[in-house]
Amino acid sequence: SPIPDYLRELLDRCTGNEQGAVADYIPELARANPDRLGIAMTTVEGATYTVGDADIDFSIQSISKPFTYGLALSDAGFDAVLSKIGVEPSGDAFNEISLEEVTGKPFNPMINAGAITAHSLVNGADSEARVERIREHFSALAGRELSFDEAVNSSEFDTAHRNLAIGYMLKTVGILEGDPVDVVRGYIRQCSLNVTARDLSIMAATLANGGVQPNTGERLFWPSAVRQALSVMLTCGMYDAAGDWMSVVGIPAKSGVAGGLIGVLPGQIGIAVFSPKLDDHGNSVRGVKLFERLSRDMGLHLMETP
Ligand code: GLU
Repeated sequence: SPIPDYLRELLDRCTGNEQGAVADYIPELARANPDRLGIAMTTVEGATYTVGDADIDFSIQSISKPFTYGLALSDAGFDAVLSKIGVEPSGDAFNEISLEEVTGKPFNPMINAGAITAHSLVNGADSEARVERIREHFSALAGRELSFDEAVNSSEFDTAHRNLAIGYMLKTVGILEGDPVDVVRGYIRQCSLNVTARDLSIMAATLANGGVQPNTGERLFWPSAVRQALSVMLTCGMYDAAGDWMSVVGIPAKSGVAGGLIGVLPGQIGIAVFSPKLDDHGNSVRGVKLFERLSRDMGLHLMETP
């Protein structure tokens, strides 16, 4: 069939790209095999196409952020979430210790300050309950039972000084309720959920499909939450490279430091790529290259005149 052939050709053209480096600020991530490369694509009808390392587990990291944000919107409601987390691109790095000057809120749910807050707004009495709710929801999105990478989880918590600093800052200004250490513990655990490119493409396709999982037909998000999550992915999903991404690739996306990258073409497809070497912004080098080609070849850019 033409799609896998095309995807194979696309991968082959990117395999030679040796730029970037695996993330090492989380010690366990530095052990990742840098040569992995996989791509998966799922249509809103539920057809999945994969090539390369599409069934290799890696931690979801920041790609959890739009999905947890969607869950917070349904659990706590739009008013509660919007009163605590902004929707403005910050242009800062993902782990910036920053708040909007006027409102005192985290800029958006795609940087850590906003993502930690979104995690705290998911239903559950403590981090353990929230994390289990998130794991179950993500499993329904992926269509299989997901589990945690315990080594990544403990490695990240042991070195979480910066995220703990963000948690204390959020507590100080009254954005976080409860114990900030417990919230950050839960956020880090959420980031350590293992997924594959295949899983992520189905999760992305659920967003493309307005919140209905294409294989099971289960409604997992309301369309309003999907629209909101895709909007912040579009404006803030690629860290401080969001503007570049929008002009060149032109679809809502989210990257993670383990090398995953998802893109969503509303009404059509979810795409996921996995390749661990990152550029200076923390985005997968080969992942970005693949998306640039895909967007050009398939005319995915949302601002393209038909
Ligand atoms: N758990 C990571 C952190 O908070 C996620 C970073 C990312 O994927 O951008 O540092």
